[in-house]
Amino acid sequence: MTKSTHNFEDIFDSSPDEMTMQDRSETLQQSDDALRVALEIGKMGIWDWDVSTDKFTWSDGIKPLYGFRQGNIGGNLKKFLQHVYPADRKRVERDLKKAVKARGTFETEFRILWPDNSVHWMFKKGRVILDKEAKHIRITGIGMDVTTRKLSESILKLSENKFKSVFDASLDAIIITDDEKHILDLNAAGSKLFDVSKEQLIKKNLISVVLAKEKKNTIREWKKLQKEGYQRAETTIQRPNGTVRNVEYSANAQFLPNRALFIFRDITDRKKEELRREHLLGIVSHELRTPLASIKAFAEILHRKLRDTKDQSNLEYLSKIDEKTGVLAELVSNLLDMTRMQEGRLEFFYELFEFDSFLKDVLNDIQVTLRSHKIIHKGKVGKEILADRNRLTQIIINLVKNAAKYSPNAEKIIVKTSFSDHHIHLSVQDFGIGIPKKELQKIFDIFYRIESPTHKRVVGLGVGLYITSEIVKKHGGNITAKSVKGKGSTFFVTLPLQPPKPE
Ligand code: ADP
Repeated sequence: MTKSTHNFEDIFDSSPDEMTMQDRSETLQQSDDALRVALEIGKMGIWDWDVSTDKFTWSDGIKPLYGFRQGNIGGNLKKFLQHVYPADRKRVERDLKKAVKARGTFETEFRILWPDNSVHWMFKKGRVILDKEAKHIRITGIGMDVTTRKLSESILKLSENKFKSVFDASLDAIIITDDEKHILDLNAAGSKLFDVSKEQLIKKNLISVVLAKEKKNTIREWKKLQKEGYQRAETTIQRPNGTVRNVEYSANAQFLPNRALFIFRDITDRKKEELRREHLLGIVSHELRTPLASIKAFAEILHRKLRDTKDQSNLEYLSKIDEKTGVLAELVSNLLDMTRMQEGRLEFFYELFEFDSFLKDVLNDIQVTLRSHKIIHKGKVGKEILADRNRLTQIIINLVKNAAKYSPNAEKIIVKTSFSDHHIHLSVQDFGIGIPKKELQKIFDIFYRIESPTHKRVVGLGVGLYITSEIVKKHGGNITAKSVKGKGSTFFVTLPLQPPKPE
């Protein structure tokens, strides 16, 4: 290295003047060592091109950067250029020659090809050095492996590009804010949604677009966002011309340090459509109830009259009318409950009552009309519950009727009750067609019906279990199901002795 240091003395300071030869050589040795270590750590090496003789010299440290363990990279410009990636060769040569011509500096980044054909990135910087008569020209400098930096730069660039294309093309409004929710950037869909130009929105607080009466609530939500990091919610915004839009948004408070990302979607039309549908369902089911009640009442009168005439076949027709009217009435009442529930209008009236006798009465009533199955009740609770009596009745009716509907070949249904962990436990077990494992979670979703021929043979809307689970939840309880296909199903309901306090 001593020899090379001599070559590169123009770049690195030589020793101070007032020194003995011994001192000088020790100091030189030390600075040599320090330089070698520094170059090694920095993945750097030194190169020198004697332009006059076209001789390239390399420090030992630069060889590994070109993929060489031993041997030489090459002694002249042509040989050096062979290591440069073909597409970058001309540029590197041109830049070198330009620096020589201008007696100036050389600085460039280019790709190199290792002997194993792998591609690496090299940064080279150098300066032209002239002898006293300015005849002998050399260019000397450092080379540095920058592959890692280049790779992370390109990965960063790629994800930036990806984000930018999503940002520009998105139909949803994308907004970037600081921690205080001041808007820093938004896409075209953003200004379209808020009906305000980007310039007008930048630096404004995002809360300024939220409808006045929603502001308090939204500010509270956004405080939670800061803690939770991620949020999905709905709110309402108001445009400068007064029009109001319903939006749903997802927010990421830690999108970047001190930067939050909001994505807003306009759901006004969807909301309107939902409201229209619910309204229509409400009207239809309401209007259906009255004629159904009349049919049921007239069927009953007819039944009484026919009973005396002993007209067996007409009596059977009448029973069918009665049975089917019952099914229809149940469907209609489920529809009505569902719409009320979705509109948040399903009311609950809580009263304190003794659970065991309540259940006994409900099961007896069901058994009167349920001729196909025998309901067997096991267990005791021995507690009073504060609950909506009618809604709890509805839970039991739904579960027992389902148990009967979906076990056409079975004869019994087992209802078990117990009390533990401050909760009432109720289970309804049937021995019917069962529920495939993957469907067990979905059956509580609204309008969800299992698509198998055996299940579809049974009349239903797919709302009974949705209503049941909503009532259970409203009472602070929980509902789950277990099943073995072809063997039967068991539904488990857990209820606290009193409902949760309203928020
Ligand atoms: P439906 O009116 O269709 O019975 P539910 O909401 O009560 O609606 O039930 C949803 C679906 O769950 C049903 O369509 C049926 O496929 C399945 N299911 C409910 N209870 C049972 C059961 N006891 N045995 C088998 N499948 C059941």
